[in-house]
Amino acid sequence: MKKPTLAITVPCYNEELCIESTVNSLIEVLGDLMAKDKINPDSFIYLVDDGSKDKTWELISKLHEKNHLVKGVKFIRNYGNQKAHIAGLLGVRDLGCDCVVSIDADLQQDQWAIEKFVDKYMDGADIVSGVRNSRDTDTFLKKTTAVCFYKVMNLLGVKIPVNQSDYRLVSKKAIDILAQYPEKQVFLRGFFNELGLKTEIVNFDVKPRLYGKSKFNYVSLLGLALNGITSFSIMPLRIIAVLGFLMALFSLGLGVYVLIEKYVFNNTPAGWATIVVLMSFFGGLQLFCMGIIGEYLGQVYREVKARPRYIIETELR
Ligand code: UDP
Ligand code: MG
Repeated sequence: MKKPTLAITVPCYNEELCIESTVNSLIEVLGDLMAKDKINPDSFIYLVDDGSKDKTWELISKLHEKNHLVKGVKFIRNYGNQKAHIAGLLGVRDLGCDCVVSIDADLQQDQWAIEKFVDKYMDGADIVSGVRNSRDTDTFLKKTTAVCFYKVMNLLGVKIPVNQSDYRLVSKKAIDILAQYPEKQVFLRGFFNELGLKTEIVNFDVKPRLYGKSKFNYVSLLGLALNGITSFSIMPLRIIAVLGFLMALFSLGLGVYVLIEKYVFNNTPAGWATIVVLMSFFGGLQLFCMGIIGEYLGQVYREVKARPRYIIETELR
């Protein structure tokens, strides 16, 4: 296989504190790989500004002026990290590359692992997933909720390894497939796992964030998790249907029992506690099930409107 043109995409949201040092580190990585003759000299970095409100875009423009390895695109507003990743992948496809690595702007993921990704690509992998060695840099709550999320996803039939991240290499072939998907809400971790292309894994260490704060809060993480589930699995809807069926069977049996008690044994049970408990239990169950259906309804609603995934303000090529 001939050596590839590599693109590195970076989603950036209010990253003025770290963007400069990140870009310099990535330029260093590209230089190193070029010196080792592992990638083409037209390899580049592609920064996606996800509607930052700080100086991020100004800094990106300056970096582009200084070094044309640095390219970028700016959204008109904040669309969230998944959309920024997708824009990165589709953007570098337009510019022309053989494979692309996505990495976070805070460089919490070890950028020197990129060489291993490229090696696996040269060995024939279309997708190389970065798997973190540990989640020690995450808070206890984030760690537990993340592990729960992956467990649920796996139970629902979406096989994503725990500790996977959006640090990954994908080949041009994989992005070409992504470009054919019209759906707007793509959960990339599920998407690339499902494709069935040759996939390899690279383990990497996570460093603490050096500058600024995490751009995710628990509301946006919950949104990401619910999107991940509802865009990849209809299992929760099936579970509701099965539950409903079982409940119907149960109440049929209960009805028969009550009738026998009343007319055969002439017992009129007091049963207040039972009624209250059952009422609140089923009230809760029904609301929960309606909530699940609502999530899917929301997904359909958003897709049916078929709005563009994101709107681009400017691009630096
Ligand atoms: N990010 C983004 N849009 C958002 C939130 C985050 O593009 O709405 C980017 C952010 O700039 C970073 C990456 O997504 O490059 C991961 O975010 P962060 O490091 O804050 O998440 P954490 O590492 O805490 O999970
Ligand atoms: Mg981070």
